[in-house]
Amino acid sequence: MAEKNLQVLLASRPTGWPSESNFRIVEADVPECGPGEVLIRNHWLSLDPYMRGRMNAGKSYAAPVEIGAVMTGGTVGEVLESKHPRFKAGQYVVGRLGWQLFALSSGEDISVVDPKLVPLSAYLGAVGMPGATAWSGLLEYCQPRAGETVVVSAASGAVGSIVGQLAKMQGCRAVGIAGGPAKCAYVVDELGFDACVDYKAGRLHDDLRTACPDGIDCYFENVGGVTMDTVFRLLNPFSRVALCGLISEYNATEPQAFTMMRAVLVNRVRVQGFIVSDRMDLYQRAIARLGPLVAAGRIRYRETVTEGLRNAPGAFIGMLRGENFGKQLVKLA
Ligand code: NDP
Repeated sequence: MAEKNLQVLLASRPTGWPSESNFRIVEADVPECGPGEVLIRNHWLSLDPYMRGRMNAGKSYAAPVEIGAVMTGGTVGEVLESKHPRFKAGQYVVGRLGWQLFALSSGEDISVVDPKLVPLSAYLGAVGMPGATAWSGLLEYCQPRAGETVVVSAASGAVGSIVGQLAKMQGCRAVGIAGGPAKCAYVVDELGFDACVDYKAGRLHDDLRTACPDGIDCYFENVGGVTMDTVFRLLNPFSRVALCGLISEYNATEPQAFTMMRAVLVNRVRVQGFIVSDRMDLYQRAIARLGPLVAAGRIRYRETVTEGLRNAPGAFIGMLRGENFGKQLVKLA
């Protein structure tokens, strides 16, 4: 029997937390490779927090996934057939080919990667979009100087783990915020941060003040909500905040208001929101520098691997709850 393409479609838009019923898994024919096209078998699918935003209909910096369409997502896979002059069968490519086993590309949205430099899955994490996000947000928008204190939330995750390691390379004190003792121990013992505060222990303000005796000069925000409010009250005059993500609010049904903007004003803090794709020059530079650092073991990362596309919806919801430890991936092949 001919091989089938398995796909995960958006079945309905969630209100608040998504459930598996918001997704539909279907079988389709493997597409035919036409002139100018490339046929790819995906080996890995990346699950990322931004996908929750794509499930909503509202206006954002990117268009929503249409009901009945394949869920959007970063992938790494192998070229099975190419009728495009820049690609040939047997190459590995990273792209945004969605939650499916096979996909066609026009060649515009894929680029060749080298599986001998780092493992294929790393092109979706430390040497992929999350790594480039960490690089741009920290070095371009926070601009940390040696001796300063850098704090990052969701510190054990795909983006946060790289932020702290890069901050250490800049000669900074790196302090993470993460959920639970196991994640905090990993951040300090394996990633080399100076300290990590467990926000679930219920003493975030006092523990952060102890971990940051000279205050906070740079804050890389991944979480929002109470965490952001607490960190802002400890920011030094003329500190810089890279506003990268607000995951604690992605499933909220009521808007949340906090008092941190007073701290921004009196301390003349510079806050910069950014989307990693704003600056593709930085993105390319980041990937070019991160590859050798990861290959040499100077930047470390951790992955949570879910087996099989059918388990992707459950793994995605788990990641939004913090059940992932490091980059959340789905192994397809
Ligand atoms: P992670 O690998 O860090 O996974 C998400 C983590 O968020 C969870 O493991 C959990 O860790 C933490 N989390 C979930 N809910 C809460 C909560 N209520 N309070 C505090 N922490 C919570 O994801 P990424 O590294 O891929 O993404 C991190 C952030 O960066 C996200 O906000 C994402 O949207 C953003 N992002 C932005 C980009 C941009 O261009 N601006 C590009 C890429 C990512 P824990 O157990 O420690 O709570």
